[in-house]
Amino acid sequence: MRILLVEDEERVASFIIKGLRAEGNTVAWTSSAVEAQALGTTQEFDMVLLDLMLPDGDGRGVLKHIRAADVGVPIIVVSALGEIDDKVSLLDFGADDYLVKPFAFAELSARIRANARHGQQSARILAAGDISLDTKSRIARRGESAVDLPSREFALLEYLMRHADQVLSRQQLLDAVWGFDFDTGSNVVDVYIGYLRRKLDRPGEPSCIETVRGAGYRVRA
Ligand code: CA
Repeated sequence: MRILLVEDEERVASFIIKGLRAEGNTVAWTSSAVEAQALGTTQEFDMVLLDLMLPDGDGRGVLKHIRAADVGVPIIVVSALGEIDDKVSLLDFGADDYLVKPFAFAELSARIRANARHGQQSARILAAGDISLDTKSRIARRGESAVDLPSREFALLEYLMRHADQVLSRQQLLDAVWGFDFDTGSNVVDVYIGYLRRKLDRPGEPSCIETVRGAGYRVRA
């Protein structure tokens, strides 16, 4: 996808750009509301990620401008909690979705997929063995039974399944699911793998999430 990122915090922008490029997207970045209005109406993008507080204007103005030009590109507002005070009005202005900072990259990635108008339906349902994930309705199943997964567990399992058959290190999983702020010394990945196993595994059968000693974790396709 060709994505326009409107963000004035360099650290946040570089984190997002790195992740989006790693997933094969093309990213154009601007920190200016004025430039965003011009770029956003060129029809050259499949998705706009929009911060609200910009040095030369308000993201709401960018939203209104793009929608007034009748450009149907999906727009996800990505902003700090205090700035997203009125979510309903953002949606009224023409935003398709919003995400509150700080967030894990996997969450942003999931929102982008969910909002991509030209998105491939094939990517909506993920399957590995008899586990399936519907990434739009956020329903996980093992066989016929629905399994209730809070959003972080869902994101972890989704990441493992999108990279089925690959061994993923704890650090990779931390970066993808918890984001850049997390302490490397944390055992949070192992804890969450434990939660998933308890919900998904069947007694007497090998775990659906393999531990690869000294390397990380893997889900088999
Ligand atoms: Ca900002």
